[in-house]
Amino acid sequence: MRYPKLRELREAFKNIFTRAATVRYPYGKAEFHPGYRGKPEFQDECLGCTACMEVCPPGAIEIVDDVENRKRRVVRYFDRCITCGECERVCTCGNGIKMVPEFAMAVYDRKDLVESVERELIVCENCGRPIATKKHILWLMDQLEEKGAANMGFVIMSLKELGIVEEVEKKVSFDKRQDLFTILCPRCKHRVILYDSL
Ligand code: SF4
Ligand code: SF4
Repeated sequence: MRYPKLRELREAFKNIFTRAATVRYPYGKAEFHPGYRGKPEFQDECLGCTACMEVCPPGAIEIVDDVENRKRRVVRYFDRCITCGECERVCTCGNGIKMVPEFAMAVYDRKDLVESVERELIVCENCGRPIATKKHILWLMDQLEEKGAANMGFVIMSLKELGIVEEVEKKVSFDKRQDLFTILCPRCKHRVILYDSL
């Protein structure tokens, strides 16, 4: 039999009175390394702008546009996520998605790893192409301040949101100045401004 050396005995005795080197999780609170990035989670501030989807390396974020019901869903599939934190880094408003320090993420059903946010989608009044979410446009108008007045369709939308104006004519005729006040995609707006309203 091999007897413990004096140094080992001293070490064992000292450890009886010192704090444990390991954490007592799940019976105690887990401590995170400051470099731990965590898990991406959508926040209420999310604009539904698609920037995070563009940069997500494994394609863990998808955009689903329902033009008919004017809804956009931004969906995050955590089973594809590599927790790189790029979505948080590029987030347009800075607070739309946050890496939260969570690590107990095992689930029985992969569907439990899917998270989404839904936003109202604004579509072109002429061709029906999706433009952006209402929340994104209102956020942009706020950032642009007086420069936002360059797009009268969006100005009307902001004023409607404030309850200052009521519904405006949505029919696009391409021969009236009124078309400038409708919400159009860049292609239709280009047609109204450069060709048909002159
Ligand atoms: S952390 Fe990285 S991989 Fe995960 S959703 Fe964000 S960008 Fe995609
Ligand atoms: S606001 Fe941020 S989290 Fe929301 S879609 Fe845009 S980039 Fe993604």
